Amino acid sequence: MDDLKSYIREVRDFPKPGINFYDITTLLKDPHALRMTVDRFAWMFTRKPPIDKVVGIESRGFMFGPSLAYSLNAGFVPVRKPGKLPAATVSETYELEYGEDRIEMHADAVEAGERVLIVDDVIATGGTALAAASMVRRRGAQVVALGFIIELTFLPGREKLAGYEVESLIRY
Ligand code: AMP
Repeated sequence: MDDLKSYIREVRDFPKPGINFYDITTLLKDPHALRMTVDRFAWMFTRKPPIDKVVGIESRGFMFGPSLAYSLNAGFVPVRKPGKLPAATVSETYELEYGEDRIEMHADAVEAGERVLIVDDVIATGGTALAAASMVRRRGAQVVALGFIIELTFLPGREKLAGYEVESLIRY
């Protein structure tokens, strides 16, 4: 999948010194690369029985998650930072290197027994994705898989998500 890698822009020292930021906007703006990304995910996640909902994590999971959901004939659900969703929510708190963070989802966004695919642009430590998976499962839905455009293999994201199917298109 290294053909897609050439569309990723690496930005050094963003958002702070020492972080190498993997920017997917250069992939998204290219018509062919965008189609390849969505089509490869759709191919990978066409399942029997099918996926009911694609859950996208704020904010870059929103940039391709709905296209993938459309392609899979699934619905799309946003997982957001606290205080953004207007109706009743469920939330999950998770540990950061320093301190903690929280994500929210509408309480009625997934139904018990539904088959869910969770997507984000990058899996780094896996903390955000694991929190999203725990929240979806608390609502009684099944996390069929987690899909990322980019996997940072030098970080323990995949280990953190042990027990879940984890798929990625590009690895560093
Ligand atoms: P994680 O550490 O896996 O919980 O990642 C937290 C969030 O930060 C994810 O939604 C990623 O999209 C984003 N992220 C983490 N590291 C990077 C990076 N090096 N480049 C771009 N996005 C990142």
